[in-house]
Amino acid sequence: MIKKVLSSLLILAFIFTFSSCGDVEEPVEEPEYYSATFFAMDTEVTVRLARDTGETDSEGATVYFDDAHLSEIIKKCADMAEEKEALLSRTDENSALSMVNGEADCYLDINTELIDLINYSREISDKTDGAFDITVGTVTDLWNVTGESPAVPTDDAVAEALSHVGNDKLATNGTNLTKTDRKTKLDLGAIGKGYTLGKIIEYLKTTDVVYGVVSFGGNVGVFGSKNDWYKVGITDALDKSKLCGYVYISTGYVSVSGDYERFFAVDGKKYAHIFDPKTGRPAESDITSVSVLCSDPSLADALSTALYVKGSDESLEFYRSGVYKFEAVIQKKDGSIILTDGLKNGKFEKYVEPVTSTGE
Ligand code: ADP
Ligand code: MG
Repeated sequence: MIKKVLSSLLILAFIFTFSSCGDVEEPVEEPEYYSATFFAMDTEVTVRLARDTGETDSEGATVYFDDAHLSEIIKKCADMAEEKEALLSRTDENSALSMVNGEADCYLDINTELIDLINYSREISDKTDGAFDITVGTVTDLWNVTGESPAVPTDDAVAEALSHVGNDKLATNGTNLTKTDRKTKLDLGAIGKGYTLGKIIEYLKTTDVVYGVVSFGGNVGVFGSKNDWYKVGITDALDKSKLCGYVYISTGYVSVSGDYERFFAVDGKKYAHIFDPKTGRPAESDITSVSVLCSDPSLADALSTALYVKGSDESLEFYRSGVYKFEAVIQKKDGSIILTDGLKNGKFEKYVEPVTSTGE
């Protein structure tokens, strides 16, 4: 039997703000934001902008922005997401990436922005020992986890798809991209949302909005001069109705990768959308979900995928190697939670289920 679960639910389910780290008992959504949600890159994007202008009138009262002004700014964020999607989408046949993925041409002169992201992705691939690899496209296409009727492919089909994967299948020089394998396909699904989120936050920093939060699928970014901490809830991958805990951030990004939103199951076995580029099959590590905190949005996104593939031991080794500066919350399939050293000083709070009254 095939059971497919697809959902556009946010992976980072809730965002609450607090006046300072850990001093409030019950999270309450504050009316301080003007919020709007739009759909981009196959996921929901929610932008929350502080209404407070940071100024006071002659009588000392707080001055707030008009909704129309904040709405206009969010509209620009949506336009930006659409523009990036036209560049990075694997499914839109007119996207710049789809031109690269065509088999006709092996020598391509491409857009600077796209080549920069490809080059950055290739660097991350090298540094993660291939756990993150954008040349995984033939494998993603073969398994088609989010398609209409996904099925487990034959070993031969996996081997064929895998033969087109690898950083050595590409070479770049300036804005020129050479595919040494005509069939190699690029997939920016594990970095594109983080990258686009970063561009949106960069834009928001140029506006007069004082602070805010943007959630882009499983990626969250905060900006502005609010001297407070944002408490970001991480969904419990083993029971989506709950959280596994919260991380506190005052700046930067959090990205989550997990096996509980996009997968299909055959005979009780789950096949999720994150692949091990070494096997051409869904990664089978001891991790069910991993959240990465990082000041670089693209890297946060890419690393969450890479750590999921690596598994907990290798991820901790990678963290300690200092190749990249990040922190992570790893939820293992056995339910245990592992924190990197920088989160052990109270920046992570375990979720405690609310006690419900027995109704006397
Ligand atoms: P989500 O898309 O749910 O946010 P990720 O950020 O982890 O999750 O990205 C997963 C997507 O990235 C997959 O749907 C696929 O398109 C692509 N992908 C899968 N495995 C890898 C990998 N090992 N390296 C790079 N990209 C991958
Ligand atoms: Mg990712």
